Amino acid sequence: MTITHHPDEEMLAAYAAGALDLGQHVAIATHLAACGRCRAFSRVCECVGGAMLEDEAPAALAEGALDRALRRLDAPAPAASAKTQPVADDLPPGLPAFVKGYDFGPWRWIAPRIHVRAIALPEPSPTRVLLLRSAPGTKLIHHEHTGVELTCVLTGAFSHEGGRYGPGDFDLGDPSVEHEPHIEAGPPCICLVAMQGDLKFGGLVGRLMQPFVSF
Ligand SMILES: [Zn+2]
Repeated sequence: MTITHHPDEEMLAAYAAGALDLGQHVAIATHLAACGRCRAFSRVCECVGGAMLEDEAPAALAEGALDRALRRLDAPAPAASAKTQPVADDLPPGLPAFVKGYDFGPWRWIAPRIHVRAIALPEPSPTRVLLLRSAPGTKLIHHEHTGVELTCVLTGAFSHEGGRYGPGDFDLGDPSVEHEPHIEAGPPCICLVAMQGDLKFGGLVGRLMQPFVSF
């Protein structure tokens, strides 16, 4: 797998620091599952963050905190963690293990040759996450974003003004970016997409389709 498009260092550092919202965290974790280079960078960030914490003056623990922590170690595991979530079948390759345990909705048609499948996050997040599946040869109509959109390619490939994106590649869309991706011939292109805001389509067809895109 040759990966040519990566998240920027600022985003990887935010991931390592736990500063991303859950939806964005899922997208970066999906890229890291495929990309050794970004995994290594994020590990360095974690080490730097840990070293900075060590330099901080130690804070006093609340009274009884140690006893409470030790009692919790002896307590039986809560029932919820013993219950393993059923993993949806027919998931595309490349998803991190923890994401496979989330609830996946059914594939839904949103436009000719394009389907989406919502991923229910276990806690509220301003960024929603979904799988987007486009048939080979599809040209997505001209669209823009009303918020930041993180895309990880799992299967297939697409191209737009920014280059070619295949499995493992990461693409960042924001309100200043308008693009018209073209899906390559070959297998269907399935991407994990973490998006804030809505997709806005231009043109008459886009306006007609817009009601179907609010999922
Ligand atoms: Zn990378």
